[in-house]
Amino acid sequence: MLKVEQISGGYGHVPIVQNVSFEVEQGKVLGILGPNGSGKSTLLKLISSIIEPTAGNVYIEGKLMKSYSAKALAKQMAVLPQLHANAFSNSVYDAVSLGRYPHQKGFFSSWSKEDEEAVENAMAQTGVQKYRDTMMEFLSGGEQQRVFIAQALAQCSNVLLLDEPTNHLDIAHQKQILDMIRKEATECGLTVVSVFHDINLASLYCDELLLMENGQVRAYGAPHEVVLQEQIADVYQAKVSTYAHPEMPKPQITMMPDPISQHKPVVSLEQLTITHDYVQLQTEFPLKVISSAVHNAGMGWYNTFLNRSVSPYYNINDVKEETNQFLKEQGFSLTNTVVMLTAVEANLAVTRVFSNDRFSVIVAVTAGVGNAVDATRTYEQEYKPYIGTINTWVIVNGKLSDEAFYQAMITATEAKTKALAEEDIRDAQTNTVATGTSTDSLLIAATQHGEEMPYAGPITDVGKLIGRGVFETTVAAIQRYKQSKI
Ligand code: ADP
Ligand code: MG
Repeated sequence: MLKVEQISGGYGHVPIVQNVSFEVEQGKVLGILGPNGSGKSTLLKLISSIIEPTAGNVYIEGKLMKSYSAKALAKQMAVLPQLHANAFSNSVYDAVSLGRYPHQKGFFSSWSKEDEEAVENAMAQTGVQKYRDTMMEFLSGGEQQRVFIAQALAQCSNVLLLDEPTNHLDIAHQKQILDMIRKEATECGLTVVSVFHDINLASLYCDELLLMENGQVRAYGAPHEVVLQEQIADVYQAKVSTYAHPEMPKPQITMMPDPISQHKPVVSLEQLTITHDYVQLQTEFPLKVISSAVHNAGMGWYNTFLNRSVSPYYNINDVKEETNQFLKEQGFSLTNTVVMLTAVEANLAVTRVFSNDRFSVIVAVTAGVGNAVDATRTYEQEYKPYIGTINTWVIVNGKLSDEAFYQAMITATEAKTKALAEEDIRDAQTNTVATGTSTDSLLIAATQHGEEMPYAGPITDVGKLIGRGVFETTVAAIQRYKQSKI
């Protein structure tokens, strides 16, 4: 639909944009990214012939753009510039109507039903109808921005060029405008090229991205090919980290602020307390955590950890609501607390610390094994939901990589399984050695200070502490549990 071939140009004799090429198919959205001054707006001006290229060509539907008359071109392409001359005194309705100029026939304009519909439609899509009779200068920056987008939409062109369309817009209006633009692209075949200030928005909404650096193309491709940690850090000269969007296959990026203190946080056994109702770890600072807890599972940062003892008849179907209620009643933060459940009494928990000359690991285990199962033989059995009975916490005074977090889960699980074998805990149905219970939970937490440990498999320094620590602590917890049953 739109093809840009080796385009170069700038202002006067100063070359700004050099040899930029890309192609956008009909109905696709291309995002242009790059630091301030990298030539994004200049590129858009070159494409829309607001400034004359010194080299290169632009094609629309296979035809050289230069060959279109001004009016024919305006039907093909609408432009939303970055800076608007809004000194004029127009009502919102009149401003949006200006978008219909290319469709007026003859010298004396004849306002048609089609024009009227296009204007009403554009105002509805951008949510500015309620200001239709308001003068532009009485609108906020964000409201004015939406009027300019409406003006560009009213033009009903095949190609839409936008320069930072969501500038000045709050998150709800960013979403409204970008959802609408993408819908126009996928449902009506509108081809969109848009400059973005915000890398995350561009990744979320664009099919392809073009990353500019000093007037040239640094990268061009799908978001996962362009939004790369090192590349973005290098081009923008800022320390960043990438992560997966929770719901969509689109990379996201976040800044890495410089650390503000040298204070080294350490978790010690004294921060673990055991009451009648729960085992609690309270730290002064949040730990990075990965867990299969019932409240705040997954990866996150938390400073309160509860392994809560509940009745064996606890109704697991209400667990979310009941846990919220419990946390509120007890005065715990809903967002800062991780909760596990166990049918074992809290005072049967075993807590220990394991250390080498560089760092330490705290392990806390409650182990009820009344309903232990052999994971390799459960296919022979009916599903019975039981409350988690072996709950394991591993708290590392150190910094773990993502790999190390997952490896720590494997190392801890292997050590737990070995502890069950050591204590000859059996699956009552198959009489084979059990591997765990049907709803065990595991939590790995780390202070994330100090030198990063890239791995935590069983043969690494931290893995050795975790393997031995979980094994010994679980054996001790099973023994305490057995004694309590005598
Ligand atoms: P971006 O949109 O990526 O922030 P621009 O394309 O606006 O960057 O600007 C690229 C370079 O061109 C900058 O160095 C800027 O100072 C220069 N520039 C922009 N507009 C003009 C202009 N009208 N006249 C001269 N130089 C300009
Ligand atoms: Mg710009």
